[in-house]
Order: sequence, then C-alpha cells, then structure tokens
Amino acid sequence: MEEFDLPKMTKVLIVEDEPAQMELTKKALVEHGAFQLAFGQNGQEAFRRLNEEVPDLILLDLGLPDCDGLDVCRRLKEEERFRWIPVIMLTGRSTVVDKITGLEVGADDYLTKPCDPGELVARIRAVLRRKQALGPVTDYDKAGLKISADRRQVWVNGTALAMTPKEFDLLLMLVSKRGALVTREEIGQVIWGKSAEESARTLDTHLWRLRSKLGELAERIETVGKNGYRFSD
Ligand code: CA
Repeated sequence: MEEFDLPKMTKVLIVEDEPAQMELTKKALVEHGAFQLAFGQNGQEAFRRLNEEVPDLILLDLGLPDCDGLDVCRRLKEEERFRWIPVIMLTGRSTVVDKITGLEVGADDYLTKPCDPGELVARIRAVLRRKQALGPVTDYDKAGLKISADRRQVWVNGTALAMTPKEFDLLLMLVSKRGALVTREEIGQVIWGKSAEESARTLDTHLWRLRSKLGELAERIETVGKNGYRFSD
C-alpha cells in the first residue's frame, strides 16, 4: 500500500458556537497536528470565512444559534466551489448521529461530543487520506444508479438512498475503480486505514448493508474469489 502524503498545513474551519467546546477543539488540533485554523461561531460567520479562504476540511457543530448544522452542510453541497470540501459533523448526543446519518446530508463523518482529542485528529486524517486515495472522482449515472461524488448522494431508479458515510465511501471506491478488481486489502486500507484482516468484519457488514440498499442493482458488485470485488456498469 502506498503512503499518503497529507498537505503539510491542513486548513480547518471550525464552526462552533460554544466557547468552551471551541477551545477544546482548538487545543486538540494545535497539540496534535499541523493545522491552520479558522473559526466561525454560527452559520453566517462560517460562510463569511469560507468566502475569505477555502479550507481543506470543515468541523461543523450540529446545533448552531442561527441555523442548523445540517442546513449549513446542505448549503455547502449546493455550491460548486464548496461542495468538494470534506465535512465532519460534531454532535452533542449519540442518538442524533443515527438520525443525521439517516438523513444523509453529505457529511464525510460524524463525531459525538465531547470527543477525544486524539480521535478527532485521527478522524480528520482518515477523511483526508480517503479523499486523496480515491483521487478526483467523477459523478456516475448509468442503468438506474446515480452517484453525486461531492454531494455524497446515491439514487437508485430516481429514489434517494440513505447511506452512512462509510457505506458511501465503499460504493464510491468500487465505482471509481469500475471494471477493475478491488481487493479487500485495498478497501481496508483506504476506507478504514486497516489491513484486510483487521477490517474483515466491518467490511463484511458494510458490504452486506450496501448490497441490501442497492437492491437489484447489487449484482453489479461482483465478488471475485475470496479477496476482492469488481463493479461493472
Ligand atoms: Ca452548539
């Protein structure tokens, strides 16, 4: 597996209205990595910062005073110049995570507050590593399956599917390498940053869920031997 070179200084926009939480996040990023930080305390300020400088990633609080974090995420995905920016949603309650996962607004990952500083940095790196490993992926629209890479949305015969970030990443990886064999080792490294062995059970679960959501289109993901998969148009 090749090494991934992340940019030396990663620009992160932190959108958070609670000063104490903002300090915690800021401290975690300053201590654990090479990050250049920008801040926004509400949705309006977030877009003002975005217009000044486009970050490499956005940490987005779900509950903001002037609007919902979900709305911010939706607005980002509607704008051509922002829609590729990876978003990690930070939420106060774990129950909300399930809900927003179901709603699928195009976030790359979700974390529940208070989050461990090391975990936060690891998630940021993982999201950036996946983006880099997948390369510039284009949208897909063939025979009933439609994928918007930046919006992170999938439609089957015109119906939008609710997918978790990892299910989406898995599908996007297979589709972007369509026609080619994608090994379990590659998938493990790119999606989970783990070996095929370490990621085996998680991969199986995600693949099973992805296939059930795709319904009759699932047959386009073919199992090849014991170690790989191939997506065909
Ligand atoms: Ca908040």
